[in-house]
Amino acid sequence: MSVVRLRSYLSGEWTEGSGPEQILHDAGSGEPVARLRSGGHDLAAATRFGRRVGGPALRRLSFRARADLVSALARSLRGHRDEFLDLARTYGATLADARFDVDGGLGTLGHYGKLGRSLPDTHWLPDGAVEPLSRSGGFAGRHILVPREGVAVQINAYNFPCWGPLEKLGPALLAGVPTLVKPATRSAPLTCRLVERIVEAGVLPDGAIQLLVGGAGDLLDHLESQDAVLFTGSARTARRIRSHPRVIRESVRVNVEADSLNAAVLGPDGVPGSAVREAFLREVRRELAQKAGQKCTAIRRAFVPAGEFESVCRETAALVRRMSPGDPRAEDTRLGPLVDPEAVAACREGLDSLEAETERIAGDPGDPGPAGSSFGPVVLRLREGARPDAVHRVEVFGPVVTLLPYASSEEAAEGCRAGGGSLVTSVFSEDRVFLGRMTMSLAAWNGRVLTVSGRALAESTGHGTVMPQLVHGGPGRAGGGEELGGLRALSAFVNRCAIQGDPDTLDALFPEPTSGVRAAPL
Ligand code: NAP
Repeated sequence: MSVVRLRSYLSGEWTEGSGPEQILHDAGSGEPVARLRSGGHDLAAATRFGRRVGGPALRRLSFRARADLVSALARSLRGHRDEFLDLARTYGATLADARFDVDGGLGTLGHYGKLGRSLPDTHWLPDGAVEPLSRSGGFAGRHILVPREGVAVQINAYNFPCWGPLEKLGPALLAGVPTLVKPATRSAPLTCRLVERIVEAGVLPDGAIQLLVGGAGDLLDHLESQDAVLFTGSARTARRIRSHPRVIRESVRVNVEADSLNAAVLGPDGVPGSAVREAFLREVRRELAQKAGQKCTAIRRAFVPAGEFESVCRETAALVRRMSPGDPRAEDTRLGPLVDPEAVAACREGLDSLEAETERIAGDPGDPGPAGSSFGPVVLRLREGARPDAVHRVEVFGPVVTLLPYASSEEAAEGCRAGGGSLVTSVFSEDRVFLGRMTMSLAAWNGRVLTVSGRALAESTGHGTVMPQLVHGGPGRAGGGEELGGLRALSAFVNRCAIQGDPDTLDALFPEPTSGVRAAPL
C-alpha cells in the first residue's frame, strides 16, 4: 500500500504543515499508510475565510436550496463508497465496521438532504406563532431562526472518521454555516479523502468546507462569538476546550459529545430461554465486537437480576470464548484490532483500574499481534461483596464489558445512573411496569433509552446505532451535548431572535411560509 501524504485544505488551498513528519500505521498490519506534518498554518486566516467567504455564499441560498446542495453532495459521495470502505480498513475496521462508519455517514448526510426538503424557501425559519403583546393588538412579537455568521469547527474523535464529520456537516450546511473539520490524527486518512472528494464534487461554494490535518495548534485562539465548536472525544479534551480563555471570553458555542459509561439492563423476566434474554446476550456480544468496542455508545456495564447472575455470566463468557481479534481485511473476522498500540495500552490501564472490584470471567488482553493493536475481548463480573466504583467511572475504550447483579428496579436504575450521565441505556424486558419504571428513572440521565420488547425484538436498530431522526448526546459525563434528532440538529448553528413590532409589519417582513414547516421543531 502506498504511503499517502495528508494535506490540509485551508483558505481555499491544499497545504502541508511545517512540523516534524508523523507516520500513521495500518492497525492490522503495522505497515505505514500515511504521513503528515502538524502546525505552521495560518488558522486566523482560515477561520476568517470561512466567515467571510463560505458563510455569505451559503447564506445567499434559502434553507430549501441548501437542502438540494446537501442531497447533491450525498449523491456524489456515494460514488466513492468503496474507496472510503477500503480506507476504513487502515484504522482496523472489519468490513462490517467499515460499513457502519461509511454507510452510516453517507446515509446521515442523505437523510439531512431529504429532511431539508420540508424547509421553506426562505432565509429565516419561523419558530412558533406570532404572540400578541398589547391589549389593542397593535404590538406583537415572533421568534425567528437565522444562520449564525461564524464558522463551525468540528473536532472529531478517531473512531468514526466518516460518520463523525458527515453527521455534523449535514445540519451545518442545511443551516447555512461553513465548516472546518479537524479529524483525530490517528484515523485522519479516511476523513482527508472524504474532504478531498467533497471539494472535487464542486457542489459546495468556496469556504463552505475546510480541513485541518494534525494537531489543533492555535485554532481555538482565533474563534469568535458567532463560531461554534462541535467536539467529539474524551472528557479530558472536552474540559480543555470548554475552559479555553478565548472560548470563554467570546462565549463560543460548544457542543460536547464525550465518553460515557453506557449500560444494558436485563429485566426480571429475562429467564433462561426467554426472547429478551437472547436479545440481551446478542446485544452484549455485538457491542463487544462492533468496532472492537471503540464506540462512544458501547455497552460497558450490563445489569442482570441477581437470581440470573451466575447463569448469565456463564452464557456471556461462552459467547465470547470463540471471539478473538483477527485481520480486519479477512472476510471471517468479526473482531478487528484497536486503532493503534496506544489504544491497547490505554485499555490495559483501564483494566488495571477495574481489577480491585472485578474478576475476569472470559477473554484476556491477549497477544497484541504484528501491529501491536490487538486486544481482548474481555468479560468482567463484579467481585462478590465488592462495592462498584471504578466500574461506574472508568471507560475502557475497547471490547470490555462488566456484568453487575441487581436486586430491584431501583437498584438497577441507581447503578445505571451511577455512570453520571450516559448516551444510551437499553432495557430488555416484556414487563411494561418494569420498562415504565426504568425509562422514567433513566430519562433524565440519558440521551436515549432503548426498550427492547415485543416487535422491537426483531426490528430494533440496536443499542449502539445512532439514528439521525433521534437525538444523540447525553447529560453529565456524556458531555451535556446534543446532536442530530432530525431538524433539532440545526439549533447548534442558528440564532433564535425575537422580533417585536407592529403586527402588519411583522406579517410583511416574515409572512408565514406557504410551503414547508410552519414551526421548525428545534
Ligand atoms: P481525544 O483524545 O479527546 O481526541 C479527540 C479530538 O480532540 C482529536 O481530534 C484530537 O486531535 C483533538 N484534541 C486533542 N487535544 C486537543 C486540544 N488541546 N485542543 C483541541 N483539540 C484537541 O479522543 P479520541 O481518543 O480521539 O476518542 C476517544 C474518546 O472519544 C473516547 O473517550 C470516546 O468515548 C469519545 N467519543 C465520544 C463520542 C460521542 O458521540 N459521545 C463519539 C466518539 C468517541 P489529535 O487526534 O490530533 O490529538
